[in-house]
Amino acid sequence: MKGKQVIAAASSLLRLFLPHSCVICGLGLAEGHFCAACRSDLPWTSIVCECCGKPLAVPLPPGAHCSDCQLHPPPFEKAFAPLLYTFPVDGALKALKFQRQLFHAPAFGKLILPLLAEAFGDVDALLPVPLHPRRHAIRGFNQAAELCRPLRRKSGLPVIGNVRRVRFTRPQTGLDAAGRRRNMKAAFEARGSLHFRHPLVVDDVITTGETCRQLAGTLLAAGAERVSVLAVARAVPA
Ligand SMILES: [Zn+2]
Ligand SMILES: [Zn+2]
Repeated sequence: MKGKQVIAAASSLLRLFLPHSCVICGLGLAEGHFCAACRSDLPWTSIVCECCGKPLAVPLPPGAHCSDCQLHPPPFEKAFAPLLYTFPVDGALKALKFQRQLFHAPAFGKLILPLLAEAFGDVDALLPVPLHPRRHAIRGFNQAAELCRPLRRKSGLPVIGNVRRVRFTRPQTGLDAAGRRRNMKAAFEARGSLHFRHPLVVDDVITTGETCRQLAGTLLAAGAERVSVLAVARAVPA
């Protein structure tokens, strides 16, 4: 056997035993989506506001919320993201969204899956943040719906289908607080009433929290009693 044939045979054999690969470093894996080293090196959030999930420099007393939540109490009960939107999570989520690297969706979807039972045990429906139909047509898929897929499959929870994004909004980045609120005003609409008490909004990144506020407001107005939010990553406050 020539050298190239030996390498090809060896790599096919390796693929047989290690059919998966780490989405961060590409290392062959027998199962799963992250190798142990990349998984432990992920930028996990540690000290956060227990209401909005914002990363904090120092812990707050039990039951206390961050200054944003005190000044403008959010309509959702609790928002949480286990990761910071920094390297390599930012690159992976951008690749999912803008380069159609859809293999990131089951990887990060399964990463947030345990939180469904651990932190949001009493939710009775899931709602991936809807994309505006125009953006959906351009992108071809909704990254929040793709991330939500493992949660839906494992939990069997229904996905809310009667809430739409009705305004084609510009990205929130670079806008001040008032601009963000204006940008997202009346961005969502529920058709008819909601038959769920505690929906869980699922998203890829919580950037400013304004999308979650608007969507939670829409869900409460449509009949939900409480709304919670679970995202993969949380932007680090400037
Ligand atoms: Zn790795
Ligand atoms: Zn907060």
